[in-house]
Amino acid sequence: MNRIAVIGAGTMGNGIAHVFAQNNYNVHLIDISQDALDKAISTIDKNLGRMVAKEKITEEDKSKTLSNITTHTNLQSGVADRELVVEAATENIDLKLKIFRDMDASAPADCILATNTSSISITKIAAVTNRPDQVIGMHFMNPVPIMKLVEVIRGYATSDAITQAIMEMSAGLGKIPVEVNDYPGFVANRILMPMINEAIITLHEGVAGVMEIDTVMKLGMAHPMGPLQLADFIGLDVCLSIMNVLYEGFGNPKYAPCPLLVNMVTAGKMGVKSGEGFYSHTHGTKELIVADAFK
Ligand code: NAD
Repeated sequence: MNRIAVIGAGTMGNGIAHVFAQNNYNVHLIDISQDALDKAISTIDKNLGRMVAKEKITEEDKSKTLSNITTHTNLQSGVADRELVVEAATENIDLKLKIFRDMDASAPADCILATNTSSISITKIAAVTNRPDQVIGMHFMNPVPIMKLVEVIRGYATSDAITQAIMEMSAGLGKIPVEVNDYPGFVANRILMPMINEAIITLHEGVAGVMEIDTVMKLGMAHPMGPLQLADFIGLDVCLSIMNVLYEGFGNPKYAPCPLLVNMVTAGKMGVKSGEGFYSHTHGTKELIVADAFK
């Protein structure tokens, strides 16, 4: 397999295109926004440049990688001759269902359709296509060129052969693939998000402050960053939306999002992307300054 398309050239899409191109796949990077495509190529260029500076790859490797990627704004022609498409567009169910219907109509009959969704059911996405056995989750982690894990998610109808092909391909990209079944949050977010939510409940109940909670989890559990800082990086809106997927998907009150999380999102405090969450980020993200609301 050599002909790949990546749909969506944002944070994840540019990283996924980078990793495939560096492993000699021919990549069509597709987005509705030309600006997003231009930014993605310049990000990939910069990230490859950093690897050259660290002598991990040569200048020739960099040029070859960039030459393996072409950008497209038309989905139909962009996927027409592809063997695998990895969808990494905005996390919105209606948008993803539309993209999968369109891909199903335009991609060759034997093309595998993968999605990088963090929380939407693979089975639901597969059900709008005429090839549910060829639809699979390929959940890369951010930043894609650095993080080793790929959560490979089997939908209800995904075939053994397709799962095997994607597991082998992920390993060939230098990643460690892990096979999981399609239930809300898969494995990564089913465990991570309730931990973050519990940290917010602990803060909300006044058990400890922002810095204290993060320090306990960092130093006590050897986590590289505390759960509240991590929530700020992920985006509090994203955390809330994934908690709602777990809450609705399992119908179990243990997944109810903390009212403080709901309030912060309603007030526009999304973390790094809005400049404030549990910490203030208006000065950058290197130094941790607790937000005024939690002082
Ligand atoms: P992003 O907002 O950075 O990028 C999304 C891109 O999709 C944008 O460039 C947008 O123009 C494009 N897009 C929107 N509609 C499109 C369409 N119809 N056709 C083609 N492109 C379209 O989002 P992201 O953070 O890269 O997330 C992408 C996916 O990856 C989501 O499903 C998300 O859940 C998942 N994910 C994100 C992370 C993360 O840390 N950001 C981690 C794992 C998985």
